Amino acid sequence: CGIVGYIGYKKAVDVLQKGLKKLEYRGYDSAGISVIEEDNLKTVKTKGRLYDLTDILEKENFTSSIGIGHTRWATHGKPSDANSHPHQDCSNNISIVHNGIIENYQSLKAQLQEKGHTFNSETDTEVIAHLIEENYDGDILKTVINIQEKLEGSYALGVLHQKEPDKIVCTRKDSPLIVGVGENENVIASDIPAILDYTREAIILDDGETGLVKQDEVTIYDENAKEVTKETMEINWNT
Ligand code: GLU
Repeated sequence: CGIVGYIGYKKAVDVLQKGLKKLEYRGYDSAGISVIEEDNLKTVKTKGRLYDLTDILEKENFTSSIGIGHTRWATHGKPSDANSHPHQDCSNNISIVHNGIIENYQSLKAQLQEKGHTFNSETDTEVIAHLIEENYDGDILKTVINIQEKLEGSYALGVLHQKEPDKIVCTRKDSPLIVGVGENENVIASDIPAILDYTREAIILDDGETGLVKQDEVTIYDENAKEVTKETMEINWNT
């Protein structure tokens, strides 16, 4: 339902929680975040409200400056800790947040299970993490672009790979996603309010476009992994 991702120099958990709070008006039943903490992917998620997540995060003291966060509005699988986002692959290298619905998740899940993947949730979303793992060739950007031909349905995605800790990959189809372009920091979000504390400059992703978001650089690619030139939009809302 709500997606936020951060890469920069601030504490990611603070930015993510603040951003998710700004998207609260959309409604949600669970919340979670993943960060890459000293080369290790760490995920904290829970059914319930953002303050339930904050309670757990206070004990963790994560200092990482890269992470993704999500508030979930359950469509496939009841609201529960396990069904909350982010979702991981088997090796816990990959973490993803997803808005939307993967219509063909059951057949993808069956194929992946046949290949030995084990699932921890009842969501449609988790298939994406395993699909990326199955096809990963050392380049998370290319892999995220390539697997999309297998996905049917709608999605906005934020993706982390623990072995590529300097980037967030994001993409969308029929579900909104923007990249806020800051000064030595960049923010991805499913809606504008979540970026306004950091920047007024935004790139609005179109369907089929995938963003490579680094601390000091944002690059957008089309479905053939060809770089596209995008205008940056100035947002002049008063908040
Ligand atoms: N379909 C996904 C789920 O049920 C994502 C829901 C959402 O957009 O929050 O977990």
